[in-house]
Amino acid sequence: MCADFTRIRRFLAEREPPTPCLVVDTDVVAARAAGFGAAFPGALIRYAVKANPAPPVLDALVAAGIGFDVAGPAELALCLGRGADPAEIAYGNPIKKPRDIAFAFERGVREFTSDAPADVDHLARYAPGSAVSIRVLLDAPDSATPFGRKFGCAPAEALDLVLRAAAHGLRPGIAFHVGSQQPDVTAWEIGIATAAKLFGEAAAHGVGMTRLNLGGGFPTTHRTAVPSLAAYASAIAAALDTSFPSGRPELLLEPGRVLVADAGLLRTEVVLVAQRDDRRWVYLDIGRYNGLAEAENEAIAYRFEPVDTRGGPDGPVVLAGPTCDGDDVLYQRTPYRLPLALRSGDRLDVPGTGAYTASYASVGFNGIEPLRTHCLGRWGDA
Ligand SMILES: *Cc1c(COP(=O)(O)O)cnc(C)c1O
Repeated sequence: MCADFTRIRRFLAEREPPTPCLVVDTDVVAARAAGFGAAFPGALIRYAVKANPAPPVLDALVAAGIGFDVAGPAELALCLGRGADPAEIAYGNPIKKPRDIAFAFERGVREFTSDAPADVDHLARYAPGSAVSIRVLLDAPDSATPFGRKFGCAPAEALDLVLRAAAHGLRPGIAFHVGSQQPDVTAWEIGIATAAKLFGEAAAHGVGMTRLNLGGGFPTTHRTAVPSLAAYASAIAAALDTSFPSGRPELLLEPGRVLVADAGLLRTEVVLVAQRDDRRWVYLDIGRYNGLAEAENEAIAYRFEPVDTRGGPDGPVVLAGPTCDGDDVLYQRTPYRLPLALRSGDRLDVPGTGAYTASYASVGFNGIEPLRTHCLGRWGDA
């Protein structure tokens, strides 16, 4: 689906809010949620709140009937405050304090993810009887922003954790995550096959599992096109048919980026253009600390579109942020070209930035305020 930012650009032209700012169209969020649900009929969908926790975004998703994947008490309280049903909230962070588990359980959350014996024990004690997906670490194909080795137990340990959870009266399932912005539609195959094997082994121990959590990872288009959601859905359906020939488990999906990225566009202003050695540096009022954190390692290469076009030829640039930090450089290896006439005060649009931008902004590094979000559409506040 090709994103259309006409309404957002009209808002920016009429209102001229100070830059940098992010504008999100909540109608697009609702449409994306409906499209995602249609691609995975029957699956339980839990939006990963960290991608964009703006209240109007959550409102649009509550209205669309989507549940939430929260990482801790603050995100949980936020979702409940917007009217989310705790029965449709999953606590997907394997790293959590016992008191945070208790907080969630007291508020009605019954779905958790775990990947270590101590955490399973905490869940047994503070969230008795809950569903707990054991997160397995797999060698999935590379994604743009992989999770490294931080999360997930080895497949060989997973059975022990499943049996440990069941012995404690928890209801075990399996979870895995293929990394964010995953360009390979077949990336879920290994995880689904591994899960099927674990379902069989658990059954041999008398433990029936019903729930498979496929995580998130569905990508969005920036400079290079990504496969359609339909292509992901059919690759996943094929893998499920192969690995679970006698019937699919109940599926849980935790999309983040794919539901909100294309609903947002960020506007930034050129602070300075300077020639340094043989390179032209363009310094923007947005950088890695106030919204473009995902430019780290140049992992996500956004599009930068001049708003004030004076025509004339373009040429290569290095793009950097406004702060006094030497690491606040956006792109020095990824080739970018901008008009040679570009100068201080000119504005650029960065489309497809509804995910992992405002939520990543620092609270005031160098005195720069967090990225302002204006929300349009039915659930908007602008
Ligand atoms: C961040 C996260 C997601 C969402 O990932 P996307 O790539 O944005 O879809 C889903 N599940 C968990 C556990 C996460 O940490």
